[in-house]
Amino acid sequence: MSEKTIFQRIIDREIPSQSVFEDELCYAFRDINPQAPTHILIVPKKPIPRLAEANLMEQSLLGHLLLTAARIARSEKIERGYRVVINNGADGGETVPHLHVHLLAGRPLGWPPG
Ligand code: AMP
Repeated sequence: MSEKTIFQRIIDREIPSQSVFEDELCYAFRDINPQAPTHILIVPKKPIPRLAEANLMEQSLLGHLLLTAARIARSEKIERGYRVVINNGADGGETVPHLHVHLLAGRPLGWPPG
């Protein structure tokens, strides 16, 4: 079996994290190196490496991650707006090979992103 990613270890509570939300499909926690005043990661418990490797069987899980981001945004009171990001691959800025959705808010976010 391949080695656990850092996010799998966080989900399994082998590494501490600042929990925001959890259900049977995903776990959300605060990013350790926040890029905005609110920076939360929403991670599926199923260890899909990245969006490019998700398949049709994961369609509802992918929708669940987005709806969870919106649900967390409502509870975080970030009514001025927020951004949802998935980094895929090296040029996409991916550093952890376990699919995750970034929820960023709390400052004006520039466009296009860097
Ligand atoms: P990405 O670059 O899209 O793969 O995002 C990985 C994110 O995980 C980065 O924003 C990191 O700051 C964050 N990260 C890495 N290790 C931890 C950790 N132990 N707890 C919380 N966030 C982490």
